[in-house]
Amino acid sequence: EMVIDIQETKKRYRGGVEALRGVSLQVPRGCIFGLLGPNGAGKSTLVKILMSIVRASQCSGTMLGQRIGHKATLGKVGYLPEHARFPEYLKGGEVIRYVAGLCGVPHGLAKQRAEGLLEMVGMKEWGERKMGTYSKGMKQRIGLAQALVNDPEIVFLDEPTDGVDPTGRLEMRNMLKSMRDEGRTVFVNSHLLGELEMICDRVAILDNGQIVRHGTIEELTAKS
Ligand code: ADP
Ligand code: ADP
Repeated sequence: EMVIDIQETKKRYRGGVEALRGVSLQVPRGCIFGLLGPNGAGKSTLVKILMSIVRASQCSGTMLGQRIGHKATLGKVGYLPEHARFPEYLKGGEVIRYVAGLCGVPHGLAKQRAEGLLEMVGMKEWGERKMGTYSKGMKQRIGLAQALVNDPEIVFLDEPTDGVDPTGRLEMRNMLKSMRDEGRTVFVNSHLLGELEMICDRVAILDNGQIVRHGTIEELTAKS
């Protein structure tokens, strides 16, 4: 079963930049899917289209059985944007509870879910400290946790290990694997093959707005 199945997705920004030039992509349920490509390739644009943050110039196909941009899918996806920043004066736990509130999770449940998520990302002892006291890796763990507050079927992570130290990267990879093992589909953007090859079940390479190759890591490394 494909949770994402899109064809001929195009995006031309005002001003004329052609960020996507006809992208077709199929993502099976329950996998870690990597979108690999250099800066400027169009990775963030594609994820923003799937998150209904950016409107495609052209896009046919579906996500979770609905057309792209349909409101019904918004409650079923989670997102950690590139360079995500949360207020430094908020505690990690407060960030998660706040996002839960935005997603319509009732107060009591939000508190309970925040505790579970803090534990899941290894931040249980740090949840009552302020974001401003955290390392980059710890901030990204909170970012990961807030992306999971609505128990999403698909989680989009845009360059999640950017600026994170090697230990933090290893832990991040393990967290992505546990998210997949819980049955979620994990969609990761990265400009580094090394970040994707150890964890991804499938990878697509985006260059200058076009998919140039796609397949399993084994298929891609065998042909290169
Ligand atoms: P990536 O995530 O692979 O780095 P992006 O999707 O961020 O790529 O960008 C693809 C191209 O679209 C780049 O040339 C970028 O400068 C351009 N771009 C991104 N966002 C906008 C925007 N809001 N307006 C105009 N151009 C944009
Ligand atoms: P960064 O430059 O830190 O990587 P982003 O790529 O996320 O940040 O871009 C920051 C904002 O600027 C986003 O809203 C993005 O869509 C927009 N943007 C990116 N590239 C361009 C561009 N070439 N022209 C106009 N807006 C852009």
